[in-house]
Formats: sequence, structure tokens, C-alpha cells
Amino acid sequence: MAGIYIHIPYCKQACVYCDFHFSTTHKNKASLIQCINKELKMRKTVLVGEIIETIYFGGGTPSICSISELRSIIDTIYNEFSVSETVEITLEANPDDLSTEKLSELKSKGVHRLSIGIQSFFEDDLKWMHRAHTSSEAKRCLNDAIALGFAEINADLIFASPGLTDEKLIQNLTILTDFGIPHLSCYNLTIEERTQLHHQVKTQQITPISDETAIRQFYLIREFLQSKGYEHYEISNYAKPGAYSRHNTAYWQGKKYLGVGPSAHSYDGNTRSWNIRNNENYIKQLIKDEWPGEVEILTPGNRYNEYLLTGLRTQWGIQLTILESEFSNEYQSQKTIFELYLKDQKLLLRGNQLVINPDYLIMADSIASELFII
Ligand code: SF4
Repeated sequence: MAGIYIHIPYCKQACVYCDFHFSTTHKNKASLIQCINKELKMRKTVLVGEIIETIYFGGGTPSICSISELRSIIDTIYNEFSVSETVEITLEANPDDLSTEKLSELKSKGVHRLSIGIQSFFEDDLKWMHRAHTSSEAKRCLNDAIALGFAEINADLIFASPGLTDEKLIQNLTILTDFGIPHLSCYNLTIEERTQLHHQVKTQQITPISDETAIRQFYLIREFLQSKGYEHYEISNYAKPGAYSRHNTAYWQGKKYLGVGPSAHSYDGNTRSWNIRNNENYIKQLIKDEWPGEVEILTPGNRYNEYLLTGLRTQWGIQLTILESEFSNEYQSQKTIFELYLKDQKLLLRGNQLVINPDYLIMADSIASELFII
């Protein structure tokens, strides 16, 4: 079982907080799509013998692509790889791109899961974030997607952003749960370097929200969504029973994936690789039949750290038997730290599973890093 990730590096405009790789100039989009198709053919051996269970268009804003551009990539995947009959095909999308016609065409061309960047239903938040859509566009697109029969929809929301009160946060969640959206990704706003937000904070145009507020909102979301029947299955992700993102769950469970497009990462169990973060150079190298990426061979310590970092963020945690069999040296050397966390009840042992105590879930990354092999 494996997945394919396609990075579409274009957006209409730059959101203030975003440090993903994207360009707001779209002039080389057609060539770049051709190069993505070329890279898929060039690197199919990475997943030799694997059945493709998930295909994920991320970005950037993949919904900027025309239906024929998306279809050409899906066709290449079907021609070059063994694709499962039950494949999950997800498209990240922004509401302003999802006209009724486009939604209907996406559905007919085999895209059946949408991950929609809603972020907030308040115009002042959307304006501050420099989003390209309005609140009414977000509601219209959710209405249309549901009416057209999209059963698998994720909505992204941002919390701990300046101006987002607890009341506004609950209103955002209420709108989404009233729509019956089965999967929600709730992201804590982080201030990344080289973003407009970082500049605004540095020049004191904006005061970041305090840690206390961020933690309070994190648990407010958890409590609200659990009361509506959602499972908190990953630190930022909630799903109605069975409505997990299969693609992202496979990442967190250490399954293989191939990432194509500028800045995309790949993982095959033993190596991790990443593509160049520059659209023009990505195109230039592929035109010369060169793969524009680098590979790192993972040490047992790298794989152990990765297992902890991804596993401890999920409700399934990490497995004691895997620690003892696959990472025995690393586990033995950190065992006293594990024991301390178990004694403090920050880690809980449930049968074979080691999970973070939900009361400390927000500290998952820092607990994992204390257990790392340096
Ligand atoms: S639309 Fe998404 S990828 Fe593009 S700038 Fe905004 S947050 Fe970043």
C-alpha cells in the first residue's frame, strides 16, 4: 500500500501566515504540469510492486488547475502505477475556485474527496489572513459540494489567530458541524519566518495570541467536536467515525509515498527525498531528463525519531512491540525517559499502545523530542 502526493505550487495570492512553497505567477503552469507528468514516469520505480491506495493533490492551490490538467496527472498515474479500485483521490481546494460547474466536473472525473481551505467564516478574519475568498463563497461551495454528493469533505480551520475570540471559534465550528462536514483539520496559527505575519509581529503591527489562549482554544475545539461525535484522531485532525483521511493516516503510520512537483517529499521506508523548491529550476532540470531532488538514507535513529514524532500525534500512538523489535537499541537507550513519562502519566500504556495522555496532547511534539535519539 502506498500513496502519491502531487504538489501544485500556485496560489492566487499569498496568505499572511503561509510558508508553503507556491508562486502567485502562473505563467509556467502548463510546462510545470507536463514536468509533473514526466517526473511521475521517471520515478515510478520508487513504488515498484506497490498498490496505490491514495492520490493527494496539495499545494499551493490545486483547485487553480483546469480539469484537463488534473485529469492528465490522474491518467499518468493510472497508466504508470497499479491503482487500487478503492483509491482515495483528494483535492485541496479554495472556495473561490469551486464553482458549481467545477465541482460537478471534478466529481465526474474521479475526484471524490475535497479538502477545502475555509479557515474562518468571519470576513474580518479572512481579510486579515489575506484569503482570496469570502464567507458567503465558503458557505455556497460547501452547500454545492454536499448537494452534488461529495460525501468526503475536509474543512481547514485556523485557531489562535489575532481577533479570534472563543465565541467566534465556536461559531465557526458550529457552522461546519451544522453542514455535517465529516472531517475537520484545526490548525494552531504558527508564526513562520519569511511570512508576512512574521514581519507584522516583528514590526509590532500585530500582537500574537498568548500560549494560554492557544491552549484553551485547542481544548475548546476538542471538547466541542467530541460532543458532536467527532474522533480526535490526530493532534490537528477530527473525523466522524470512519471518515479519516486515508492519505494522511498512511503518512502518520509510516507507509511509503511518492511526492512529485516542486518541494514535494517522498519516503520509501529506507530513504527520504525532497524536490527542489523552485518552479523554474524544477522545470529546467526535468526538461534535461534530470530529477530535481536529493535523497537522504535514513539511519535507524532517524527512523525511530520519525516513528515517535508522527505516531505520538495520533490516537493510535506507538507500539511497544515495534519499539522492542525494530528500534531495540534506541528504545533501550531512552527507556528511563519513557518510564518517567509513564510515571507522570503524560504517556499512557494501553495494551501494546503507548499514547499521549489527552490532557498533555498539545505537548506531543515536545514529549516526542525528549525521547529522540540525537
Ligand atoms: S492558499 Fe494555501 S498554500 Fe496558498 S498562500 Fe494561502 S495558505 Fe498558502
